[in-house]
Amino acid sequence: MPINLIPFCSTDETWYQLRVPFTVREHVYATDGRIIVRLPKTAYPEYDSNRWDKSASALALFDNLPKDWQKTAEWTRLVSVQIPPRHFRVCNDCGGGPPGCEECDNGRVQDFEYVKVGKKLFNNHYLLLMVEHLPNVHIAANVGTEHEQTPFEFDGGLGLLMPVRPEAQRYGYSTQEITTESK
Ligand SMILES: [Zn+2]
Repeated sequence: MPINLIPFCSTDETWYQLRVPFTVREHVYATDGRIIVRLPKTAYPEYDSNRWDKSASALALFDNLPKDWQKTAEWTRLVSVQIPPRHFRVCNDCGGGPPGCEECDNGRVQDFEYVKVGKKLFNNHYLLLMVEHLPNVHIAANVGTEHEQTPFEFDGGLGLLMPVRPEAQRYGYSTQEITTESK
């Protein structure tokens, strides 16, 4: 059965291009700007768009991984990592009231927790997404710095997850956004 890719897509109205998976050449991609997954597109004909636009430039990230990263990768199976469950609270701005509040999602705000894998911090929300939807997912947290995308593999595909900045716990930052700046 194909993997459900929708949970990896953006729910942000202003990033409408990323609200559904898309294909470029032989792969299908799903991303919200902080996580991206890539699989062969053959099992996903419904998303066949063959787009190469600005948002798709994020794909260059896969090429920007350190050379020979797979040789030095230290894999951690995510099922062996203790990941705190998601926690939601009522939005302070609207009190969980009528829709239209820009600070929340239907009156709810998700509080993130940070999980250390190797030397990097990750947002529990994304690690849970991966465990819930990607079979046999494992991450190579030793690849790249704490400001760089971190590769993960699962049965059938490859992905990248941005870490949380190391100062996050002090300042409450969320996951960094993917950037295509090359070094
Ligand atoms: Zn609100």
